[in-house]
Amino acid sequence: DIDHIYEALLYTDINLDSVEPDSVLQEDHIKMIVQKSGMKYKSAKLKEEKERKNTDAVKRPPADPADLTPRPPVVTILGHVDHGKTTLLDSLRKTQVASMEAGGITQHIGAFLVHMPSGEKITFLDTPGHAAFSAMRARGTNVTDIVILVVAAEDGVMQQTIESIEHAKNAGVPLVLAINKCDKPEADPERVKKELLAYDVVCEEFGGDVQAVNISALKGENLMVLAEATVALAEMLELKADATGLVEGTVIESRKDKGKGPLTTAIIQRGTLRKGCVLVAGKTWAKVRFLFDENGKAMDAASPGIPVEIMGWKEAPSAGDEILEVESEQRAQEVVAWRTYVEQQEKLKKDIEVIEAKQKEHRLEYKKKQEKLAHLTWRQRKAVLYKANKHLMFSRPKERTEMDENTLSLIVKGDVDGSLEAILNILDSYDCEDECKLDIVYFGLGDISENDISLAEAFNGVIFGFSVKANESIKKLADKKGIKIKLHNIIYKLVDDLKDELNCRLPSTV
Ligand code: GDP
Repeated sequence: DIDHIYEALLYTDINLDSVEPDSVLQEDHIKMIVQKSGMKYKSAKLKEEKERKNTDAVKRPPADPADLTPRPPVVTILGHVDHGKTTLLDSLRKTQVASMEAGGITQHIGAFLVHMPSGEKITFLDTPGHAAFSAMRARGTNVTDIVILVVAAEDGVMQQTIESIEHAKNAGVPLVLAINKCDKPEADPERVKKELLAYDVVCEEFGGDVQAVNISALKGENLMVLAEATVALAEMLELKADATGLVEGTVIESRKDKGKGPLTTAIIQRGTLRKGCVLVAGKTWAKVRFLFDENGKAMDAASPGIPVEIMGWKEAPSAGDEILEVESEQRAQEVVAWRTYVEQQEKLKKDIEVIEAKQKEHRLEYKKKQEKLAHLTWRQRKAVLYKANKHLMFSRPKERTEMDENTLSLIVKGDVDGSLEAILNILDSYDCEDECKLDIVYFGLGDISENDISLAEAFNGVIFGFSVKANESIKKLADKKGIKIKLHNIIYKLVDDLKDELNCRLPSTV
């Protein structure tokens, strides 16, 4: 409603002559208009933001202890390079192959389950090295319950052994010590245990609570003793989970299969995953089509602590991403849209911060420059600034009318340093000195004063003000003396007005 806006504009300092129909008001001006008209200001963006309610999926509150049932431990194997982690994982996997039907091939999906003769189960994560462990910790997720620290009996404690201990300590995860390569003649397991004392890893024989097992991963010796030690620790930890309700879990690994599409291995931490469940993870979602175990065998359900490969993702989520079940596909899409929006907002915020930091830097630089130039006269200052601002913002007026006076004397007033600087920079770019001289008699900050009027009178000048006011008595005084006061709130309007003033002073080209 243009009439309404014009009426509201009367409440502001905006020069009505400078507002054309169809021109877009700046948000600041709209704010000012609305505030001065006594209404409340509420930007469209703010409203949209408020209406867009948080639609992220959230974890359920902690489970009732009555709903908790025992679950298998999730174990990560850490240790120095070449101490035998991969060999140990392979050997553990093989103990399962033997118990499978002939022809069964285990495949690497990032985790596998070991069934003990006693009926216990252990889930081993076999994402290579510390990378996955650290990545998940960095995301604040920790699926590992127990760390098996592998130390080669002939090498002893090495750099990555120490790092592994730190990782486990920081994550608050207890250790089982596997002293490997005990088949080697130079193996010295006792030395390893003693060395570890220096890193607060105290084995049982030294009065500590760390179980140590001498093994040969290569020959498959003592692996079941190691597994039993792990189960014993797990029992002490009383690992339990709620296998009912909406599923919660963590992505261990993602891969793409030509036929099956994106597949992720996950450890379920709550609820029981079944076909048809709708899951969200990161900025993607899945309607679960199939579940597989590490042997590629289809599963009907995956309960807490069990590794499972999930098929049905739109895109592959990342290792460490939290998996949450939601009630419908529509809800999953909402959640993904919300997370995408939040991420964009965060990126935008960061971009703005960078820009603001740059602006601040510029302002400081300008201030320094100004301080350096403070003792110079306007003419000298102009020469320096001109070199610094090569971009021409203020080109010669295009149309020329009849010749008038060929000097335009100016008194320039601005509200803040920044706006005054902008105007002076624009004036610097003026390049038709030989046709009409531009003489800046005075420039400064603040509202139009009597002094400005006297200067304008003495130099036959025009007063230009940006975002400043002239009170009634000043206006009357100027009127009486025939002095023009031109007030603007928009830089380009001020420049246009300046061009007009110059225009009528330039010689005609005709
Ligand atoms: P990782 O870097 O910790 O994964 O170590 P690997 O499992 O790749 O093992 C490094 C080397 O040590 C390989 O040549 C293995 O064959 C060898 N190795 C691993 N375990 C044993 C073991 O118990 N006894 C002997 N003699 N060699 C082993």
